[in-house]
Amino acid sequence: MKYTVNEYGFYGDFGGAFIPEMLYHNVKELKDCYLNIIESEEFIKEYKQLLKDYVGRPTPLYFAKRLSEKYNSNIYLKREDLNHTGAHKVNNTVGQILLAKKMGKTRIIAETGAGQHGVATATVCALMDMPCIVYMGEIDIKRQAPNVARMKMLGAEVRAATSGSKTLKDATNEAIRDWIANPKDTYYLIGSVVGPHPYPDMVARFQSIISEEMKMQLEEKTGRNYPDKVIACVGGGSNAAGAFYHFLDNENVELIAVEADGLGVKTGKTAATTQIGTEGIIHGSKTILMQNSEGQITEPYSISAGLDYPGVGPLHAHLFKTGRGTFLGATDKEALAAAFELTKLEGIIPALESSHALAALGKLDLKPNECVVVNLSGRGDKDMETYMKSLPNPPNI
Ligand SMILES: *Cc1c(COP(=O)(O)O)cnc(C)c1O
Repeated sequence: MKYTVNEYGFYGDFGGAFIPEMLYHNVKELKDCYLNIIESEEFIKEYKQLLKDYVGRPTPLYFAKRLSEKYNSNIYLKREDLNHTGAHKVNNTVGQILLAKKMGKTRIIAETGAGQHGVATATVCALMDMPCIVYMGEIDIKRQAPNVARMKMLGAEVRAATSGSKTLKDATNEAIRDWIANPKDTYYLIGSVVGPHPYPDMVARFQSIISEEMKMQLEEKTGRNYPDKVIACVGGGSNAAGAFYHFLDNENVELIAVEADGLGVKTGKTAATTQIGTEGIIHGSKTILMQNSEGQITEPYSISAGLDYPGVGPLHAHLFKTGRGTFLGATDKEALAAAFELTKLEGIIPALESSHALAALGKLDLKPNECVVVNLSGRGDKDMETYMKSLPNPPNI
Protein backbone atom coordinates (compact mmCIF):
# COMPACT_ATOMS: atom_id res chain seq x y z
CA MET A 1 0.00 0.00 0.00
CA LYS A 2 1.19 3.48 -0.86
CA TYR A 3 0.50 6.41 1.48
CA THR A 4 2.00 9.25 -0.49
CA VAL A 5 0.20 11.05 -3.25
CA ASN A 6 0.27 9.73 -6.83
CA GLU A 7 0.88 11.88 -9.92
CA TYR A 8 -2.82 12.73 -10.15
CA GLY A 9 -2.96 13.91 -6.57
CA PHE A 10 -4.70 10.83 -5.15
CA TYR A 11 -4.14 8.94 -1.93
CA GLY A 12 -5.91 5.71 -2.82
CA ASP A 13 -9.51 6.75 -3.47
CA PHE A 14 -9.11 10.25 -2.07
CA GLY A 15 -7.71 13.61 -3.12
CA GLY A 16 -7.53 14.96 -6.66
CA ALA A 17 -8.48 18.45 -7.78
CA PHE A 18 -12.24 18.91 -8.17
CA ILE A 19 -12.32 22.57 -9.02
CA PRO A 20 -14.36 24.96 -11.14
CA GLU A 21 -12.92 25.54 -14.59
CA MET A 22 -12.11 29.12 -13.69
CA LEU A 23 -9.58 27.91 -11.12
CA TYR A 24 -7.95 25.39 -13.42
CA HIS A 25 -5.06 27.60 -14.51
CA ASN A 26 -4.24 28.81 -10.99
CA VAL A 27 -4.08 25.29 -9.63
CA LYS A 28 -2.21 23.94 -12.65
CA GLU A 29 0.44 26.66 -12.38
CA LEU A 30 1.01 25.70 -8.74
CA LYS A 31 0.98 21.97 -9.43
CA ASP A 32 3.47 22.30 -12.26
CA CYS A 33 6.06 24.22 -10.26
CA TYR A 34 5.77 23.35 -6.56
CA LEU A 35 8.05 20.31 -6.47
CA ASN A 36 10.77 21.89 -8.61
CA ILE A 37 10.85 24.90 -6.32
CA ILE A 38 10.52 23.33 -2.88
CA GLU A 39 13.01 20.57 -3.67
CA SER A 40 15.64 23.00 -4.97
CA GLU A 41 18.80 23.46 -2.94
CA GLU A 42 18.28 27.22 -2.70
CA PHE A 43 14.73 26.86 -1.38
CA ILE A 44 15.65 24.20 1.19
CA LYS A 45 18.50 26.38 2.45
CA GLU A 46 16.27 29.44 2.94
CA TYR A 47 13.41 27.40 4.42
CA LYS A 48 15.63 25.58 6.93
CA GLN A 49 17.33 28.84 7.91
CA LEU A 50 13.98 30.49 8.67
CA LEU A 51 12.76 27.43 10.57
CA LYS A 52 15.88 27.62 12.72
CA ASP A 53 16.23 31.35 13.35
CA TYR A 54 12.66 32.64 13.02
CA VAL A 55 10.44 29.74 14.06
CA GLY A 56 12.86 28.36 16.66
CA ARG A 57 13.36 24.81 15.38
CA PRO A 58 14.18 22.10 16.12
CA THR A 59 11.47 21.93 18.74
CA PRO A 60 12.38 19.72 21.70
CA LEU A 61 11.28 16.11 22.05
CA TYR A 62 10.59 16.09 25.77
CA PHE A 63 10.42 12.93 27.89
CA ALA A 64 7.38 13.57 30.11
CA LYS A 65 8.44 11.70 33.22
CA ARG A 66 5.43 12.23 35.45
CA LEU A 67 2.96 11.70 32.61
CA SER A 68 4.81 8.47 31.76
CA GLU A 69 4.53 7.28 35.37
CA LYS A 70 0.81 7.98 35.34
CA TYR A 71 0.24 5.88 32.21
CA ASN A 72 2.97 3.33 32.98
CA SER A 73 4.72 3.85 29.65
CA ASN A 74 7.35 6.06 28.01
CA ILE A 75 5.70 9.21 26.74
CA TYR A 76 7.48 11.90 24.78
CA LEU A 77 5.99 15.24 23.78
CA LYS A 78 6.98 16.84 20.47
CA ARG A 79 6.92 20.47 21.51
CA GLU A 80 5.30 22.27 18.55
CA ASP A 81 3.81 24.61 21.16
CA LEU A 82 7.25 26.24 21.42
CA ASN A 83 7.24 27.45 17.81
CA HIS A 84 6.96 31.18 17.09
CA THR A 85 3.22 32.07 17.16
CA GLY A 86 2.57 29.06 19.42
CA ALA A 87 1.69 26.19 17.12
CA HIS A 88 2.79 24.07 14.16
CA LYS A 89 0.94 26.20 11.57
CA VAL A 90 3.91 28.49 10.98
CA ASN A 91 5.98 25.57 9.56
CA ASN A 92 3.59 25.63 6.62
CA THR A 93 3.11 29.39 6.21
CA VAL A 94 6.89 29.99 6.14
CA GLY A 95 7.19 27.38 3.39
CA GLN A 96 4.33 28.67 1.29
CA ILE A 97 5.33 32.33 1.50
CA LEU A 98 8.79 31.43 0.21
CA LEU A 99 7.16 29.47 -2.61
CA ALA A 100 4.83 32.40 -3.42
CA LYS A 101 7.80 34.75 -3.69
CA LYS A 102 9.70 32.37 -5.97
CA MET A 103 6.59 32.13 -8.17
CA GLY A 104 6.64 35.93 -8.49
CA LYS A 105 3.37 36.43 -6.61
CA THR A 106 2.89 39.76 -4.87
CA ARG A 107 -0.35 39.40 -2.92
CA ILE A 108 -1.39 36.74 -0.39
CA ILE A 109 -4.91 35.60 0.44
CA ALA A 110 -5.98 33.09 3.06
CA GLU A 111 -9.07 31.91 4.86
CA THR A 112 -9.29 31.26 8.55
CA GLY A 113 -11.81 29.81 10.98
CA ALA A 114 -10.45 30.25 14.47
CA GLY A 115 -7.89 32.76 13.29
CA GLN A 116 -4.81 30.64 14.02
CA HIS A 117 -3.94 30.13 10.35
CA GLY A 118 -4.80 33.78 9.68
CA VAL A 119 -2.30 34.86 12.34
CA ALA A 120 0.39 32.49 11.03
CA THR A 121 -0.18 33.87 7.51
CA ALA A 122 -0.24 37.53 8.58
CA THR A 123 3.00 36.86 10.48
CA VAL A 124 4.96 35.63 7.45
CA CYS A 125 3.44 38.36 5.25
CA ALA A 126 4.82 40.97 7.66
CA LEU A 127 8.15 39.17 7.58
CA MET A 128 8.24 39.20 3.76
CA ASP A 129 6.55 42.59 3.27
CA MET A 130 3.64 41.14 1.30
CA PRO A 131 0.06 42.47 1.39
CA CYS A 132 -2.21 39.98 3.15
CA ILE A 133 -5.98 39.57 2.96
CA VAL A 134 -7.59 37.12 5.33
CA TYR A 135 -11.20 36.02 4.76
CA MET A 136 -13.06 35.12 7.90
CA GLY A 137 -16.72 34.38 8.65
CA GLU A 138 -18.57 37.27 10.27
CA ILE A 139 -19.49 35.07 13.22
CA ASP A 140 -15.91 33.88 13.66
CA ILE A 141 -14.69 37.49 13.63
CA LYS A 142 -16.89 38.12 16.65
CA ARG A 143 -15.92 34.84 18.38
CA GLN A 144 -12.18 35.21 17.85
CA ALA A 145 -11.52 38.86 18.62
CA PRO A 146 -7.95 38.43 19.99
CA ASN A 147 -6.78 36.73 16.79
CA VAL A 148 -8.48 39.39 14.66
CA ALA A 149 -6.55 42.02 16.62
CA ARG A 150 -3.28 40.11 16.07
CA MET A 151 -3.87 39.89 12.32
CA LYS A 152 -4.61 43.63 12.14
CA MET A 153 -1.53 44.54 14.17
CA LEU A 154 0.51 42.37 11.81
CA GLY A 155 -0.81 44.46 8.92
CA ALA A 156 -3.35 42.08 7.41
CA GLU A 157 -6.75 43.13 6.13
CA VAL A 158 -9.47 40.94 7.63
CA ARG A 159 -12.47 40.68 5.29
CA ALA A 160 -15.77 39.39 6.64
CA ALA A 161 -17.61 36.58 4.85
CA THR A 162 -21.26 37.47 5.32
CA SER A 163 -22.97 34.73 3.32
CA GLY A 164 -24.29 31.32 4.41
CA SER A 165 -23.48 30.29 7.96
CA LYS A 166 -20.86 33.09 8.15
CA THR A 167 -18.14 30.64 9.26
CA LEU A 168 -15.11 28.86 7.79
CA LYS A 169 -16.68 27.34 4.68
CA ASP A 170 -18.09 30.74 3.68
CA ALA A 171 -14.67 32.34 4.20
CA THR A 172 -13.22 29.64 1.93
CA ASN A 173 -15.77 30.46 -0.77
CA GLU A 174 -14.79 34.15 -0.59
CA ALA A 175 -11.08 33.34 -0.83
CA ILE A 176 -11.69 31.15 -3.88
CA ARG A 177 -13.74 33.94 -5.49
CA ASP A 178 -10.86 36.36 -4.89
CA TRP A 179 -8.36 33.91 -6.41
CA ILE A 180 -10.48 33.49 -9.53
CA ALA A 181 -10.67 37.28 -9.90
CA ASN A 182 -6.92 37.79 -9.33
CA PRO A 183 -5.17 34.80 -10.90
CA LYS A 184 -1.91 36.51 -11.94
CA ASP A 185 -0.55 38.24 -8.88
CA THR A 186 -2.27 36.38 -6.05
CA TYR A 187 -1.17 33.34 -4.08
CA TYR A 188 -3.79 31.42 -2.06
CA LEU A 189 -2.14 30.18 1.14
CA ILE A 190 -4.08 27.18 2.53
CA GLY A 191 -3.57 26.23 6.17
CA SER A 192 -4.00 22.47 6.36
CA VAL A 193 -3.66 19.28 4.30
CA VAL A 194 -6.91 20.08 2.52
CA GLY A 195 -7.94 21.68 -0.78
CA PRO A 196 -7.23 20.57 -4.35
CA HIS A 197 -3.97 18.79 -5.25
CA PRO A 198 -1.17 19.89 -4.77
CA TYR A 199 -2.10 21.56 -1.46
CA PRO A 200 -2.49 18.43 0.70
CA ASP A 201 0.86 17.04 -0.46
CA MET A 202 2.62 20.40 -0.26
CA VAL A 203 1.39 21.17 3.26
CA ALA A 204 2.26 17.63 4.42
CA ARG A 205 5.79 18.11 3.07
CA PHE A 206 6.20 21.40 4.94
CA GLN A 207 4.90 19.87 8.16
CA SER A 208 6.99 16.72 7.73
CA ILE A 209 9.82 18.54 9.51
CA ILE A 210 8.03 17.37 12.68
CA SER A 211 8.65 13.65 12.10
CA GLU A 212 12.03 14.33 10.46
CA GLU A 213 13.20 15.83 13.74
CA MET A 214 11.44 13.13 15.79
CA LYS A 215 13.47 10.42 14.05
CA MET A 216 16.78 12.02 14.94
CA GLN A 217 15.69 12.91 18.45
CA LEU A 218 14.36 9.40 19.15
CA GLU A 219 17.58 7.86 17.85
CA GLU A 220 19.54 10.04 20.22
CA LYS A 221 17.28 9.42 23.24
CA THR A 222 16.23 5.79 22.79
CA GLY A 223 18.70 4.33 20.31
CA ARG A 224 15.88 3.61 17.84
CA ASN A 225 14.67 6.09 15.26
CA TYR A 226 10.96 5.34 15.49
CA PRO A 227 8.37 5.11 18.27
CA ASP A 228 5.72 2.42 18.80
CA LYS A 229 2.91 4.95 18.64
CA VAL A 230 2.51 8.53 17.39
CA ILE A 231 -0.58 10.38 18.55
CA ALA A 232 -1.87 13.60 17.00
CA CYS A 233 -5.15 15.51 16.86
CA VAL A 234 -6.88 15.96 13.50
CA GLY A 235 -8.79 19.02 12.38
CA GLY A 236 -7.88 19.25 8.70
CA GLY A 237 -4.95 17.04 9.58
CA SER A 238 -1.74 19.01 9.03
CA ASN A 239 -0.02 18.49 12.38
CA ALA A 240 -0.93 14.80 12.23
CA ALA A 241 0.34 14.53 8.64
CA GLY A 242 3.63 16.10 9.73
CA ALA A 243 3.96 13.84 12.77
CA PHE A 244 3.13 10.69 10.75
CA TYR A 245 4.95 11.53 7.50
CA HIS A 246 8.28 9.74 7.94
CA PHE A 247 6.60 6.75 9.60
CA LEU A 248 3.86 6.16 7.01
CA ASP A 249 5.70 3.19 5.50
CA ASN A 250 7.01 1.82 8.80
CA GLU A 251 4.34 -0.64 9.91
CA ASN A 252 6.02 -0.94 13.32
CA VAL A 253 4.64 2.51 14.10
CA GLU A 254 0.99 2.80 15.03
CA LEU A 255 -0.43 6.09 13.74
CA ILE A 256 -3.15 7.37 16.04
CA ALA A 257 -5.38 10.22 14.88
CA VAL A 258 -7.70 11.85 17.39
CA GLU A 259 -10.78 13.72 16.27
CA ALA A 260 -13.02 16.01 18.32
CA ASP A 261 -16.15 14.18 19.45
CA GLY A 262 -17.54 17.47 20.78
CA LEU A 263 -20.49 16.78 23.06
CA GLY A 264 -20.48 13.15 21.84
CA VAL A 265 -20.73 11.53 18.41
CA LYS A 266 -24.35 10.54 18.99
CA THR A 267 -25.47 14.08 19.90
CA GLY A 268 -24.72 15.44 16.42
CA LYS A 269 -22.75 18.24 18.12
CA THR A 270 -19.43 16.83 16.94
CA ALA A 271 -16.50 17.25 14.57
CA ALA A 272 -15.67 13.51 14.43
CA THR A 273 -15.61 13.41 10.64
CA THR A 274 -14.55 9.80 10.09
CA GLN A 275 -17.21 8.57 12.53
CA ILE A 276 -20.25 10.34 11.10
CA GLY A 277 -18.99 11.53 7.72
CA THR A 278 -19.35 10.04 4.26
CA GLU A 279 -17.36 10.26 1.05
CA GLY A 280 -17.77 13.40 -0.98
CA ILE A 281 -16.05 16.53 -2.19
CA ILE A 282 -15.09 19.49 -0.05
CA HIS A 283 -12.70 22.37 -0.87
CA GLY A 284 -11.74 20.74 -4.15
CA SER A 285 -10.76 17.29 -2.95
CA LYS A 286 -12.48 13.95 -2.58
CA THR A 287 -12.45 12.89 1.02
CA ILE A 288 -14.65 12.09 4.01
CA LEU A 289 -16.84 14.94 5.19
CA MET A 290 -19.88 15.74 7.27
CA GLN A 291 -22.81 16.29 4.91
CA ASN A 292 -26.56 15.92 4.81
CA SER A 293 -28.50 13.69 2.43
CA GLU A 294 -28.42 16.45 -0.20
CA GLY A 295 -24.65 16.73 -0.06
CA GLN A 296 -24.67 20.06 1.79
CA ILE A 297 -21.96 20.45 4.41
CA THR A 298 -23.24 20.23 7.98
CA GLU A 299 -21.84 22.53 10.66
CA PRO A 300 -19.32 20.80 12.89
CA TYR A 301 -19.02 21.46 16.60
CA SER A 302 -16.07 21.24 19.00
CA ILE A 303 -14.97 23.21 22.05
CA SER A 304 -11.68 23.57 20.19
CA ALA A 305 -11.83 26.03 17.31
CA GLY A 306 -8.94 24.39 15.43
CA LEU A 307 -10.70 21.01 15.24
CA ASP A 308 -14.06 22.50 14.30
CA TYR A 309 -13.79 21.48 10.62
CA PRO A 310 -16.34 19.39 8.67
CA GLY A 311 -13.79 17.28 6.75
CA VAL A 312 -10.39 15.62 6.99
CA GLY A 313 -7.61 15.86 4.44
CA PRO A 314 -7.50 13.09 1.78
CA LEU A 315 -4.41 11.48 3.33
CA HIS A 316 -6.35 10.89 6.53
CA ALA A 317 -9.40 9.57 4.68
CA HIS A 318 -7.00 7.07 3.08
CA LEU A 319 -5.36 6.13 6.41
CA PHE A 320 -8.83 5.63 7.85
CA LYS A 321 -10.23 3.56 4.99
CA THR A 322 -7.17 1.32 4.68
CA GLY A 323 -6.88 0.84 8.43
CA ARG A 324 -3.28 2.15 8.44
CA GLY A 325 -4.38 4.82 10.92
CA THR A 326 -6.21 4.23 14.19
CA PHE A 327 -8.94 6.85 14.57
CA LEU A 328 -10.12 7.77 18.05
CA GLY A 329 -12.24 10.57 19.40
CA ALA A 330 -12.13 12.72 22.51
CA THR A 331 -15.05 14.74 23.81
CA ASP A 332 -14.87 18.35 25.00
CA LYS A 333 -14.89 17.07 28.57
CA GLU A 334 -12.13 14.53 28.03
CA ALA A 335 -9.95 17.14 26.31
CA LEU A 336 -10.44 19.60 29.18
CA ALA A 337 -9.48 16.93 31.73
CA ALA A 338 -6.37 16.06 29.71
CA ALA A 339 -5.36 19.73 29.56
CA PHE A 340 -5.54 20.10 33.34
CA GLU A 341 -3.72 16.80 33.82
CA LEU A 342 -0.76 17.80 31.62
CA THR A 343 -0.58 21.19 33.31
CA LYS A 344 -0.54 19.64 36.76
CA LEU A 345 1.96 16.87 35.97
CA GLU A 346 4.37 18.66 33.65
CA GLY A 347 3.82 22.41 33.98
CA ILE A 348 2.79 22.69 30.33
CA ILE A 349 -0.52 24.30 29.36
CA PRO A 350 -1.52 22.72 26.03
CA ALA A 351 -3.81 24.09 23.31
CA LEU A 352 -7.32 22.65 23.44
CA GLU A 353 -6.67 20.94 20.11
CA SER A 354 -3.55 19.19 21.42
CA SER A 355 -5.48 18.21 24.56
CA HIS A 356 -7.59 15.91 22.38
CA ALA A 357 -4.42 14.00 21.45
CA LEU A 358 -3.44 13.83 25.13
CA ALA A 359 -6.91 12.49 26.01
CA ALA A 360 -6.18 9.43 23.86
CA LEU A 361 -3.51 8.27 26.35
CA GLY A 362 -6.25 7.08 28.69
CA LYS A 363 -8.00 5.15 25.93
CA LEU A 364 -5.00 3.10 24.84
CA ASP A 365 -3.60 0.02 26.49
CA LEU A 366 -0.05 1.35 26.86
CA LYS A 367 2.79 -0.99 27.80
CA PRO A 368 5.70 -0.18 30.15
CA ASN A 369 8.28 -0.87 27.43
CA GLU A 370 6.52 1.12 24.71
CA CYS A 371 7.70 4.42 23.29
CA VAL A 372 4.85 6.84 22.61
CA VAL A 373 5.10 10.30 21.06
CA VAL A 374 2.28 12.82 21.45
CA ASN A 375 2.46 15.73 19.04
CA LEU A 376 1.79 18.77 21.20
CA SER A 377 0.54 20.92 18.32
CA GLY A 378 0.14 24.20 20.20
CA ARG A 379 0.11 26.09 23.47
CA GLY A 380 -2.87 27.00 25.57
CA ASP A 381 -2.56 30.80 25.91
CA LYS A 382 -5.38 31.31 23.42
CA ASP A 383 -7.66 28.95 25.37
CA MET A 384 -7.31 30.39 28.86
CA GLU A 385 -10.82 31.80 28.90
CA THR A 386 -12.31 28.38 28.06
CA TYR A 387 -10.12 26.64 30.63
CA MET A 388 -11.14 29.07 33.39
CA LYS A 389 -14.82 28.76 32.49
CA SER A 390 -14.60 24.99 32.76
CA LEU A 391 -13.56 25.05 36.42
CA PRO A 392 -16.25 24.43 39.04
CA ASN A 393 -14.97 27.47 40.94
CA PRO A 394 -13.24 29.66 38.39
CA PRO A 395 -10.61 31.90 39.97
CA ASN A 396 -11.31 35.60 39.90
CA ILE A 397 -8.54 36.71 37.54
C1 LIG B 1 -5.19 24.63 13.73
C2 LIG B 1 -4.71 23.76 14.82
C3 LIG B 1 -4.91 22.37 14.82
C4 LIG B 1 -5.71 21.67 13.76
O1 LIG B 1 -5.22 21.75 12.47
P1 LIG B 1 -4.53 20.52 11.74
O2 LIG B 1 -4.39 20.96 10.34
O3 LIG B 1 -5.43 19.34 11.91
O4 LIG B 1 -3.23 20.29 12.41
C5 LIG B 1 -4.38 21.61 15.85
N1 LIG B 1 -3.70 22.19 16.87
C6 LIG B 1 -3.48 23.52 16.91
C7 LIG B 1 -2.73 24.08 18.07
C8 LIG B 1 -3.98 24.36 15.91
O5 LIG B 1 -3.79 25.67 15.98
